[in-house]
Formats: sequence, structure tokens, C-alpha cells
Amino acid sequence: MKTSGIHHITAIVNDPQVNVDFYSNVLGLRLVKKTVNFDRPEVYHLYFGNESGHPGTIITFFPWPKLPKGRIGTGQVGTTSYAIPVGSMDFWKNRLREQGISFTSDVRFNETYIEFEDPDGLKLEMVEREEGPENSWSTKGIPSKYAIKGFGGAILNSKQPNQTVDILENVLGMEFIAQENNYLRFQTQGSLGNRIDMKLSPSVRGLAGAGTIHHIAWRAKDDEEHSKWRELLEKKGYKPTEIKERHYFKAIYFYEPGGILFEIATDPPGFAVDEEPEKLGEELMLPSWLEAKRKKFEKTLPSIREE
Ligand code: ZN
Repeated sequence: MKTSGIHHITAIVNDPQVNVDFYSNVLGLRLVKKTVNFDRPEVYHLYFGNESGHPGTIITFFPWPKLPKGRIGTGQVGTTSYAIPVGSMDFWKNRLREQGISFTSDVRFNETYIEFEDPDGLKLEMVEREEGPENSWSTKGIPSKYAIKGFGGAILNSKQPNQTVDILENVLGMEFIAQENNYLRFQTQGSLGNRIDMKLSPSVRGLAGAGTIHHIAWRAKDDEEHSKWRELLEKKGYKPTEIKERHYFKAIYFYEPGGILFEIATDPPGFAVDEEPEKLGEELMLPSWLEAKRKKFEKTLPSIREE
């Protein structure tokens, strides 16, 4: 079995409005789902992606307004990489400048990246990529020919790089393709979220909190493959959770030996399961088992708006 790369990345932030303003208005992603954290429904769960919220494009957030800041370090995903169309780097540099967001440039594996932070301090970068379909969501002064396609990949800060390599290669079916300075690069099938870099130099120990990534989810193509992955993990001595119904996908979670929380999530059914494709993200959506408490959530959750 081989994953097709990143399904979604989930991070913790403070203010939901600041979060929407940045990912929707600055980066031009579509808010494809406004729901609550199914395990802690007093908090939103916001999903941003391309026009349909396709796997490989989805970044999701738990906004906890009063949660203390964490620290980015080992045992976490360190950086989220976005793939932008070839020829769009100057557009994005200008857009970040206009928004007062400072960035630096770096080259890794012969690719030029621009690196910056979101308002909560999450590390982001952009890289031009040929592969990956164009994002047809055109908004906020970002024509779709320049729009973020989805994830290019991510940088993993493992506490035990050698053991994390074993998971990437022998569980998720990725291929090691190159080493450069302090990074190993792995590639998967699929055209988005398909190049995973692992940092070899030790950094500080990560601390969970606002401004850090909570987990990274890998794609399973269907329920059958998902169950097989769970069996494989158990056979190899990992301790995956039971299969959880996340309404838009099914999920299993496990800590990989490098301390990073991994999830495997199914591609189906996707975000149009409870909303019309043209109305994604407009209303607060609740799974049936939380619907009875809708009034309470609508009263206690902070209101958020998209411009
Ligand atoms: Zn997840």
C-alpha cells in the first residue's frame, strides 16, 4: 500500500477570526467547513482548502482563544509547504509585502521556497510546482492561475529520524529520493502533499499549544485500504486508535516513534456530504449526534465572518 500523500494538516491557534482572515483573505483558500471539534465541541473546527476541499489541500484549525502558545520543535510537523503554480512566485511575494508579512527565501532540493509565518506563528512556505491541478477557487484578488494548489509537502521534526523513516517507507509506502545537508526527502504517489522532508538536525523539544501543528493525516483511498492500514500498524506493534467517524472521512491516529501524531484518513466521502458544493463553509455544520446542542454552540462559539 502507498499513500497518495498528505490528506490534511491540523493546527492549534487562538482567535478564529484572525485565522479566517489570514487563510481565507490573505492566502485565498476556501473555508470549506465550519464545524466543531467532535471530541471537544466547545471549540470550532475550521477547514480550509481548494474549491472542493480535496484531500491534499486541507488545513484545519482548532481555535482555542485563551490557550497559551506552544513551541515548534521535535515531535511535531515543523513547516507546512504550499504548492503554487509555476510563474506565480512574484505575485505571492508582492501579495505578502502588501499585507505586511515578512518572508525569507531559501533553496532546498533545487527548489526555491519563500518562508513566512501565519498570525499564530505557524511556519509556512510556498514553492512553485508543475504538478497538481489548478485551484478553481478565485477570490480576494487572487486569480486562479496564481491560487495555491494545495500542499507541496511538509517538514517533519522527528525525535527519532531513523524510526520515522521506517514508518514513511515501510508503512506509508513512500520512497526516499535524496539527502541534502540536514534534510531527507521522501516522495509519494499523488500530485499534492507528495514531498515530505525530514529534518535531521535536532532542534528544541516541541511543546503543544497555540501556534503549533497538532497532527498530520495521510491519505487512504477507501475504507478497505484504511482497515488494512490499521491491521498493518497493529502487526508492526504500533497502537492505532479504533476507526473514528469524522463525518467527512474516517480516521485512525497513532504516535509515530519520533513523537509526531500521525492520522490516516479516508478520501471519501468529503465535504459535500452535508452541504451543497457551492455553499461549503457557509453554515455551522454539526454531526447528527451534536445537532441537539446547536443552540448552545451558536450562543457560546465566537461569531466569525468572511469578508
Ligand atoms: Zn485530522
